[in-house]
Amino acid sequence: MNSPKNSASAAEPEHKPSNFLRQVIERDLAQGTYASRKWGGQPGDAAHHEQGQPDPAKIRTRFPPEPNGYLHIGHAKSIWLNFGLAQEYGGVGHLRFDDTNPEKEEQEYVDGIIEVVKWLGYDWNVNGTSHLYYASNYFDFMYRAAESLVEAGLAYVDEQTPDEMRHNRGDFNTPGTNSPFRDRSPQANLERFREMRDGKHADGAMVLRAKIDMASPNINLRDPAIYRIKHAEHHNTGNKWCIYPMYTYAHPIEDALENITHSICTLEFEDQRPFYDWLLERLADLGLLKHPLPRQYEFARLNLTYIVTSKRKLKQLVDEGHVSGWDDPRMPTLVGLRRRGYTPESLKLMAERSGVSKAGGWIDYSSLDIALRDDLESKAPRAMAVLDPIKMKLTNWADVFGSEAHHEACSAPAHPHLPELGVRQFSLGPEVWIERDDFAEVPAKGFFRLFPGNKVRLKYGYVVECTGAEKDASGAVTAVLAKLVPDTKSGTPGADAVKVKGTITWLGVHDALAAEIRLYDRLFTEGQPDAGGRDFLTVLNPNSKKIAAGFVEPSLASAEADAKFQFERHGYFVADRKDHVRGKPVLNRVTALKDSWAK
Ligand code: ATP
Ligand code: MG
Repeated sequence: MNSPKNSASAAEPEHKPSNFLRQVIERDLAQGTYASRKWGGQPGDAAHHEQGQPDPAKIRTRFPPEPNGYLHIGHAKSIWLNFGLAQEYGGVGHLRFDDTNPEKEEQEYVDGIIEVVKWLGYDWNVNGTSHLYYASNYFDFMYRAAESLVEAGLAYVDEQTPDEMRHNRGDFNTPGTNSPFRDRSPQANLERFREMRDGKHADGAMVLRAKIDMASPNINLRDPAIYRIKHAEHHNTGNKWCIYPMYTYAHPIEDALENITHSICTLEFEDQRPFYDWLLERLADLGLLKHPLPRQYEFARLNLTYIVTSKRKLKQLVDEGHVSGWDDPRMPTLVGLRRRGYTPESLKLMAERSGVSKAGGWIDYSSLDIALRDDLESKAPRAMAVLDPIKMKLTNWADVFGSEAHHEACSAPAHPHLPELGVRQFSLGPEVWIERDDFAEVPAKGFFRLFPGNKVRLKYGYVVECTGAEKDASGAVTAVLAKLVPDTKSGTPGADAVKVKGTITWLGVHDALAAEIRLYDRLFTEGQPDAGGRDFLTVLNPNSKKIAAGFVEPSLASAEADAKFQFERHGYFVADRKDHVRGKPVLNRVTALKDSWAK
């Protein structure tokens, strides 16, 4: 029965910390800023949307990656924000490939991005409509809009050399100088622009520029280039075009055609916002777009310590073989993080906790591990593993059980709080694997595990008393010797009569499963590997990957790739999605149980 208190709290909405984007959206919804928009069923201009229905999406956001590389953890924040906010407020999130730049894009990247956004749990299919778009499908409109700007005297073809243009742009202290081509008639500009389109001019010979203000304190408003000549084949439009729109011109148009309401981007685009607004206002004045127009909002990008995210640097790590590929479990790419064992939930949790603000900053890498532990603690089945095995011989086994061949069945819950996950079965025999550092011939102060004369409990099993060790000619310990203490089996009456200070994990030699266990650590030894122009390769962590030939519980024999576990005492592990096969486990350590980097 629900107490009144319980039912009241159950009715409360899930607590979401507010942030400035949520506030903007809530204000717009309250004021009905976008309530009158119509949606023509797919992206399009004012006339197209005008003949449509009232837009069923309360807001529209978009995640607009350029398909020129693999997504990284910073993108996860943008994905979470764009799709998450849309979901939260009855809106729609679009996945848009910003493929306006010919040459650089590849299908491999498009496929990779689609897969990883799905993996994060987001969907651009809403009520049977797929909102997956390609910016290159808007080239016709972009060109038409540019002609309209030219005709309206709002854009001109500039034939200055790139050097002249750079020089005449001025700088923060100096206003720019008007181009000698700035006052050509709209008709002359239109002819020139069409020549550009028709392939009459070489790359770089001229550009189309917006005609705004060469003295603007915002350099981005000093007649920015909006179209350039580039004789290059495009993966989608082939050789149809030899002029391509500049990003700053294309992006606002893409947003407007898609009815985007809140165009969320990172802070480096803040200075572009005045041009974003200038352009959309002009195109609305010209009747090509319709109010209300999309608005751009900038937030501080996610910076995580101990990683690099620049595509060039990530590529260098791959190309030079410092990692095994884009999906190496040490890479901050989403494919790498996935393979390492980070869950979509942990990435979302980390994004949510990192906050959404205008002030940039660094988030410690450990926040990702904390989020992973918070996610998996309540979900991951437990198991025992021995990472650095040494054999322990129970020398009185046959005396206690009558035969060396006897195996004593043991069990443990798969999860302490999830009885529905069932019970793990394993067994104890005369020889067990234990962790090498659970034995010390001469114990340090405070060491309560195995040393001659001391008793410990084998977790879920019996108490044993250490009697010594076997050694090789060099004096190295080759096996630990112990005696089983009868009548101390966990869960049986009187098992606690023998008091011990230490409990250790173990596996029966007869039923343990050999496993390759990959112990990953941070890829860099410095929190900001590329700070101050440092060559990030000089601070690679030489110990970022160690391979242990260990053993795991027999319950892992049926584990499938991607399955996640908490190995008692050792942390969270995942069955590697590439190399693991059923019965021959290959496991990656995601993270230890505690942050070993904290002091
Ligand atoms: P990079 O600079 O790493 O090459 P990018 O910004 O050029 O990344 P895009 O594909 O253009 O890559 O990015 C898609 C979206 O992801 C953009 O809206 C961008 O602002 C956002 N984004 C990129 N990096 C981060 C980050 N570290 N934190 C939050 N959002 C990010
Ligand atoms: Mg970019």
